[in-house]
Parts: sequence; structure tokens; C-alpha cells
Amino acid sequence: MASALTLANVSKSFVNTEVIKGVDLDIAQGEFVVFVGPSGCGKSTLLRMIAGLEDTTGGDIVIDGNRVNELPPVKRGIAMVFQSYALYPHMSVFENIAFPLRVEKLPQGEVDSRVNGAARVLQLESRLQQRPGTLSGGQRQRVAIGRAIVRQPKIFLFDEPLSNLDAALRSEMRVELMELHKRLGSTMIYVTHDQIEAMTMADRIVVLSAGEIEQVGSPLELYHRPDNLFVAGFIGSPK
Ligand code: ADP
Ligand code: MG
Repeated sequence: MASALTLANVSKSFVNTEVIKGVDLDIAQGEFVVFVGPSGCGKSTLLRMIAGLEDTTGGDIVIDGNRVNELPPVKRGIAMVFQSYALYPHMSVFENIAFPLRVEKLPQGEVDSRVNGAARVLQLESRLQQRPGTLSGGQRQRVAIGRAIVRQPKIFLFDEPLSNLDAALRSEMRVELMELHKRLGSTMIYVTHDQIEAMTMADRIVVLSAGEIEQVGSPLELYHRPDNLFVAGFIGSPK
């Protein structure tokens, strides 16, 4: 299987504190990988380095065979969806989704076809002329995902995208995201501190603790054969 993303000895220090400590990881094309770990363990920092929003202190980030450490975010073929989806309240849903394409100055025909395609996948077709303020929380999150889809990224990064939603909506969106992954076949990296999300969504789970990888494996591998007590405790295998 071709490699979509390779992290080779990636590290990050803020002032004197090393918050990512030599992470090695290889992600295959089309994989759905979940980064899980307690708050403050470095999940967002790792994602932000992959996206190019944060410089690495050391190591290499390789996307599709190319080292991208010096490439700006827009050139990396990556789209990131955040927890606090900053939609523009004065713009229609259509223009919110189209926004990154306007920045790239794509022709109107291409904008129309990409936005309509994303709206179809996300079942937002009937909402395109509404303002975000008139939508439910789940629909607003879908608009934020639509904004990522229209960029046709090689890799999607999700940073705790569901943590602002209530429990029922969260489980509905989990299913929707997994269907989206199946439909698009894109590589997706999904960050969460929620063990249930990790266990139900991942092809492979990466368990992080204090800036280091504790274990990488399928949900069942981690559940039945945790390498250590931290992983066992986190994934919730009965001991
Ligand atoms: P997570 O997303 O897993 O909760 P983060 O990646 O946000 O963790 O943070 C990892 C560590 O790095 C934390 O100790 C946090 O305080 C620190 N950190 C994150 N961003 C900065 C920054 N810009 N300056 C200084 N320290 C930071
Ligand atoms: Mg975070």
C-alpha cells in the first residue's frame, strides 16, 4: 500500500519544553487513523505540524513521497477541520463552503460544481442559500467539512471536530464521517480524547502520551493486546 504520510523522528519544542518527542509513523493511502490521548499530550501540535501551521523543531514530514517541511499550508494538499468551526455568519452556506476556492480564484463553473458536489455528499443541497445562523449544530459542522472537501485534499485532518456537539449528535456525526471516508476513499487523520470515537472509527489507533507514541494498532489489537498499562487504561481493556 502506498504511503500517504510519513513522520520521521518529528519533534517540537516550545521554548525549553519538548512537547513532541521524536514521533515515527507511516500512514497508508486511504487509511482512517485516529490519534488518541489525554488533553495536553500533543495531538493538536502534531496535526498542526502536518498541516504546516506550526514548524517542526526536528525530523521530516513526507506527504506522497515529498518532504514538505518547508512548504506552506496551502501547498501541502491537506485540509483541516477544527472543533470551533469558524463559519462566516453574513455569508450563505454556499459561500462559506466556496470560501477556500475564492481564495484560490477558481473559475465560477468549477466553484459551482465542487460546492454542489460537496453539498450532495453532505446532504446540504437544500440549505445552500441559508445563513449558518439558521442551521443546527450538526449542519454547521457539515458546512465546515464541506469547506475541506471542496479543496480536494490528499489528506483530511480533523481536530476534535465533534467535541462541541451533544452526545446524540456526536454519534450520528461519527457514522456520517465514516460514510464520508468510505465514499471519498481519502486518507483521514482524526484527533480525539474520546476512546469510543477511537474504537469505533479507526482503521488504526495511535495512542499518544506526553508527546510520544505509546502504541499503534487496530482497535482490536489495542484492546486485546495493550503494550502497557497506560494503553490498557486508556482503551479500557478489563484487567
Ligand atoms: P492536545 O491537543 O493533545 O490537548 P496540544 O498539542 O494542544 O495537546 O499541547 C501539547 C503541549 O504543548 C501542552 O503542554 C501545551 O501546553 C503545549 N503548547 C501547545 N501550543 C503551545 C504554544 N503555542 N506555546 C507553548 N506551549 C504550547
Ligand atoms: Mg488539542
